Amino acid sequence: MKPLQIPAIHASHGGCWLRRPDLVGDMLGATTRGVGKGEAIMAVSDTPLLMLNAPLVASRLGYPDLSGLDLLELFAFVHPARFVVPTPKGMAHALGLEPPAGDADVPELLQRAAGALLATCEAEDWPEREGAWTALQSLVRLRWPWAGLVTPHLRKPEKAERWLFARLPEWEEAPERPQPAQVVLGAAEIGLRLSALTGEGAEERASQLAFAEAVGAAFAPRRGTREPHVVLAQAGTGTGKTLGYLAPASLWSAKSGGTVWVSTYTKALQRQLRRESRRAYGEGAAGGQQPVVVRKGRENYLCLLNLEDALQGGFQGRAAILAQLVARWAAYSQDGDMIGGDLPGWLGTLFRKRGVTALTDQRGECVYAGCPHYRKCFIERSARASAGAELVIANHALVMVNAARGRDIANRPTRVVFDEGHHVFEAADSTFSAALTGAETIELRRWVIGPEGKSRGRRRGLSARLADVASYDEQGALAITEAVEAAQALPSDGWLGRIVEGAPFGPVEDLLGAVRALVYARDENGGSEAGYGLETEVAQLDGPFVEIAGRAQEALEALRQPLVRLGLRLEALIEDGPDWLDGPARARIEGARGAIGWRSDLIGGWIALLARLGGPADRDFVDWLAVDRSDGREWDIGLHRHYLDPMKPFAETVLAPAHGVVLTSATLCDRSGASGGETGGDDWDSAVTRSGAQHLEVAPKLFSAESPFDYAAQAEVLIVTDVAKGDIAALAGAYGRLIESAGGGVLGLFTAIRRLRAVYGRIADRLARAGLPLYAQHVDPIDTGTLVDIFRDDPRASLLGTDALRDGVDVPGDSLRLVVMEQVPWPKPSILHRARRLAAKDSGGGQRHDDRIIRARLAQAFGRLIRSGTDRGHFVVLSAAFPSRLLSAFPPGTPVRRVTLDAALQLIAAGVSGSEPAASPAAIDGRTA
Ligand code: SF4
Repeated sequence: MKPLQIPAIHASHGGCWLRRPDLVGDMLGATTRGVGKGEAIMAVSDTPLLMLNAPLVASRLGYPDLSGLDLLELFAFVHPARFVVPTPKGMAHALGLEPPAGDADVPELLQRAAGALLATCEAEDWPEREGAWTALQSLVRLRWPWAGLVTPHLRKPEKAERWLFARLPEWEEAPERPQPAQVVLGAAEIGLRLSALTGEGAEERASQLAFAEAVGAAFAPRRGTREPHVVLAQAGTGTGKTLGYLAPASLWSAKSGGTVWVSTYTKALQRQLRRESRRAYGEGAAGGQQPVVVRKGRENYLCLLNLEDALQGGFQGRAAILAQLVARWAAYSQDGDMIGGDLPGWLGTLFRKRGVTALTDQRGECVYAGCPHYRKCFIERSARASAGAELVIANHALVMVNAARGRDIANRPTRVVFDEGHHVFEAADSTFSAALTGAETIELRRWVIGPEGKSRGRRRGLSARLADVASYDEQGALAITEAVEAAQALPSDGWLGRIVEGAPFGPVEDLLGAVRALVYARDENGGSEAGYGLETEVAQLDGPFVEIAGRAQEALEALRQPLVRLGLRLEALIEDGPDWLDGPARARIEGARGAIGWRSDLIGGWIALLARLGGPADRDFVDWLAVDRSDGREWDIGLHRHYLDPMKPFAETVLAPAHGVVLTSATLCDRSGASGGETGGDDWDSAVTRSGAQHLEVAPKLFSAESPFDYAAQAEVLIVTDVAKGDIAALAGAYGRLIESAGGGVLGLFTAIRRLRAVYGRIADRLARAGLPLYAQHVDPIDTGTLVDIFRDDPRASLLGTDALRDGVDVPGDSLRLVVMEQVPWPKPSILHRARRLAAKDSGGGQRHDDRIIRARLAQAFGRLIRSGTDRGHFVVLSAAFPSRLLSAFPPGTPVRRVTLDAALQLIAAGVSGSEPAASPAAIDGRTA
């Protein structure tokens, strides 16, 4: 395995290193030397250099047009669907090479890694050989930079390779499953099951057993319609919740023959569940029904028809190369999941455009059985597999959407465990909301009419998708024609530009123009200058505005009517069953009927929203007008409607038809400090309200277990009181010094992207020179999941981010030693927040409402720090005036100190000792949370 002798470059915040042929003594060899950015840019623009993660190198050099031989692309070709952390160290690890000792060693490592990958192409035992030669021939035609280098190492196979679409297995139709048997789980059998899962000799945990028994109650037979068993189970980090609920869930599935759904909010937990569920359910026989299935929204999966289209000329240039690499991956993928599955998250960002998204079924344009790949379709396979599975792992949004408009009523979830249950409210809030915006309406127009202008690809409108119905059924044909005509009133390409210029076209663009004008007119916060989103409430609208809204309402009604009629025609067709309606045609028409049904409902929601304008407000809803902007650029305009209490529709659509529902989390209740006992007191009120159970008048069963961790010894909260709010230089200085004293391993959480970027820009170079790499969401051209992988892989790395990182980071061990919050995470003062705060005030607690939100955020952020019994670390909040009433957010026993930055740096450098006395009474709050 010889290193690939071509020039290589590495750029980090600490500098640039170039390796190229040189005279070493009297001999021609290669040397690596540090170079300035100017020289590095000259080198990369001169000749294609070997590098790792070209967009990241481009961003470090400040040279966006960079291209070269990206080792990650070669890795994706040689080892599709295989995990690698996209850093020099990660690449070395994945290929079994010696990792580089420092930045200066990286270019040489890149040469060794490229040599190793090319050598793999020659190896007899290369597991991903099939399909490589055929893909390479296409990549040669597409002028993939690696093609010429790979070709000499890849021999032509003796037999022609099977084309991707021939290789993929077909799913099988399975008979309908009988109803689950009605069983009651006894405490003893749950205990036995749990011991079997945790393994013999595993530390006996009474709280985990009690938790498992409490969850088991949710699986009892239902007593009445609309009377599900609801269990709210709070269990501190480290209780072993996952196996705790998998024990009764797997036992119930085995005894009853039914399916349990476990729903998560973050991808991190979904991955963990996938791993842990193997212990409870095993792997399943190859080719047979899998006991555990991961189910996601269809927009996550590769659509084979879109891929075929892309491979056959639908994609051009770099996007066409991406399509070839995705096709390589598809042949080896476990389930075709492109977002958070086994497609590397970094692959899409290497190609910059939205290529990955274009290969999924974003707009519900699936033609079901009309598709030549229907029997191999990843989405259909996952839907079928979940119908026969014992455990379905899904996310909150999908469970709710499925309950609200799932195609197959028999397969709707009836036993659901919502892990990360503290997020159910948020997920319901977005699932059951309505947004009549430019982006939403143009999507609908394209779905009805098909794409306009010169857009390529297979996307077609309703009339093309239902051509056979139109030729058979006159009334159906008429409804399609009317719908297509009515959709002309929806915004079309270039709508935003026309509105900004004051020249909207059609009734809906008129409405969006009026919304924009009103939002700007009423803005009081100077937001017009700051470039962030603007909003105003739906109140005191004048006559002309209401008239414009009325015309938009009529236009939407004119579209909804024919769609509803078309839906009825399709229903009649399915019932009539004409000769030509064989199984596949029926499935396609059922699919179309489902899609038309939920779009009619969507338009119905918009019409209801418009109908209320100018009239009395509906107390169940909060309506507002908004202009969405980021970095000073507008990207959407529209009207929004959210339920004041989204748990109301949640109760109707998810709870009422269910038999058993569990909501569990480490932070289900608010720790207001006013608890009246283990499961009593005020703390449970908000958790019960936020479960939706009260809307069905169901009394949930409550359970609570404290974390087994010794927070007094493992963690320390430091409230730093001398970093002035609003002083960016001071904030950046504080972050830089905190990261230095911790030696990396810092997760920095921000509430505003603007401040995150400003801090990152000021400290990244300095830290890199000290060997402390810094990464940031919203700055580095890397997806969030990959950023977390990089962070986890390098104990000296630190990561800055916003909300998504407050929950989605599960990094046990040494890589995360310090969490820093830039300030108290106050709720954003939005119209929706104000309305809910007001409603809470009516029932006696506006302030309590805000405090609950903040405490929940602090508790979630703190929860990132201590993930195992051996983790230790500090939690820092930069806040001169941190209210004491919020301290109860931290687990009982956690030491809390109010200190200066200097004192904090000393404490962090010394590590968590767990027993040190207070150094100065003035500097220390003298309390524990
Ligand atoms: S069945 Fe639908 S989603 Fe699946 S490949 Fe065909 S068009 Fe795409």
